[in-house]
Amino acid sequence: MSRFLSPKYSALTPYTPGEQPQKTGYVKLNTNESPFSPSPYAIKAAYSEMKQLELYPDPECAALRRSLAELCGINEKQVVATNGSDEALYFAFLAFCDANRPAAFADVTYGFYKVFAELLGINCRIIPLKDDFSIDPGDYINAGATIFIANPNAPTGLALSRDEIEYIVAGNPDHLVVVDEAYVGFGAESCVNLIHRYDNLLVVRTFSKSYSMAGARLGFAMGNEALIRDLDAIRYSTNPYNINRMTMAAGIGALADRDYFYACLRTITENREYAANELKKLGFTGPRSSANFLFVKHPDIGGKELYEKLKARNVLIRHFEQPRIRDYNRITVGTFEQMNILIKEIKAILEENA
Ligand code: PMP
Repeated sequence: MSRFLSPKYSALTPYTPGEQPQKTGYVKLNTNESPFSPSPYAIKAAYSEMKQLELYPDPECAALRRSLAELCGINEKQVVATNGSDEALYFAFLAFCDANRPAAFADVTYGFYKVFAELLGINCRIIPLKDDFSIDPGDYINAGATIFIANPNAPTGLALSRDEIEYIVAGNPDHLVVVDEAYVGFGAESCVNLIHRYDNLLVVRTFSKSYSMAGARLGFAMGNEALIRDLDAIRYSTNPYNINRMTMAAGIGALADRDYFYACLRTITENREYAANELKKLGFTGPRSSANFLFVKHPDIGGKELYEKLKARNVLIRHFEQPRIRDYNRITVGTFEQMNILIKEIKAILEENA
């Protein structure tokens, strides 16, 4: 820490992103990326946009917002594009949390919620998940806070139904509910159509997972027009050119290629069921995933040990040191070949330990 850092940040614990090794050769199953390339439409559109990099991008992201609105059955004023969904979440903390509006979220959920709250000096109400890691919607009624729910949740993969989300939204009429749908495409129900009926619902999504575009940094938030105007005011006060030209073009291209999108989703969900079943045969247990990752533990090997031994065999998975989940690991679903390498290496490790 330098002597110039504001004391308000001296105790900050920054978010720890998953490892992004620059060395190739790893089977990389640690940060829930897609194992597939972006759609060829996205690549072509980004490439051709490169020729105009001397010009600033459209700060309104009009063309992208039109495509998103069409896809989601909303109007263009109900959506704002962000630099990854992390930026949408950050803007939501900036806009909708303060001394009178703490943030409420689960004890086991996306780690960035806690970091944003800490950065901005916002109090948190932590709501424990049930023993089976599911969310009890009843725990969120009249929460007296701005609520953040990842649906499906990370790293558990468990999803609430749209009716359960609606119950929470309706049960907090004077507080905003932010539903983070980063993984919704892999098997959960989106609640986006509820934004037409509830002014206290903000839905956040990303191109990082189901659109295979984590490297492009593109997310978006949807809600009623007033909420989106609030987020836009924050955006124009921080970084009006938050989406670069290539990313914007790639996003529009990816949205146009529905066949590719659904083919990738189908393969990932098939591979997830295959890997879940193989891991079960080896003695692993864990919640049933609606996302592109599995959250599993094994009775004979600790979470950290398995993570380290797999890493030594060039397979990267994600381990969290949080006490409640330290027996578990989160494993991204990759290609069929990657899942077979994972299973083969795990078998070898378990045999070595036997
Ligand atoms: N929400 C959840 C639940 C996540 O797991 C992630 C990915 N780490 C994000 C949001 C942020 O993703 P991105 O900024 O790449 O859109």
